Amino acid sequence: MEIRVSDVKKWAGREETQHIEDEWPAQIQERVEFPVLGPLSIDVKVRNTGQSLVVECQGTAVLSAVCSRCLEPFMLEVPYQLVEEFREETGADDPELDYYRFNGDKIVLDELIADCLGVSIPIAPVCRSDCLGLCPQCGANLNLAPCDCRPQLDDRWGPLQKWQAYQKASVHDEE
Ligand SMILES: [Zn+2]
Ligand SMILES: [Zn+2]
Repeated sequence: MEIRVSDVKKWAGREETQHIEDEWPAQIQERVEFPVLGPLSIDVKVRNTGQSLVVECQGTAVLSAVCSRCLEPFMLEVPYQLVEEFREETGADDPELDYYRFNGDKIVLDELIADCLGVSIPIAPVCRSDCLGLCPQCGANLNLAPCDCRPQLDDRWGPLQKWQAYQKASVHDEE
């Protein structure tokens, strides 16, 4: 995806907004674990500050995700936004500089959009905030129906309780 900046780069203070519908950049699926659905639909604002062009992008991606609790597929909406500064200079990008460079009349945003969406996706997405997940014992989806398993809290906390008892005992010994 690229934006034309031939006009906005001519005058300091000029600002252009546009809505772009495009295909997702090819590298998106390298950054994003779940398939991205639908076209890329994004609002872009470019502002000429006099020294640089500040590009702001805002969009919402829809992914075909899998719930991290109940393992059911669901559509995950991921809002994302980025703000980056570009200066018209030739030469390679210097990682020491905190701005990007562009050359000519367009700025290519594929890499930035792919990175931005990649870091905007929650690490453990859930189909809904109150998803009950799977029973750790029988694997039943507890959103559909409760199962007959009993909670085994004693087993889970047993080692911790032993450890706490041991800690108390050793503190007592030192006194
Ligand atoms: Zn779920
Ligand atoms: Zn169960």
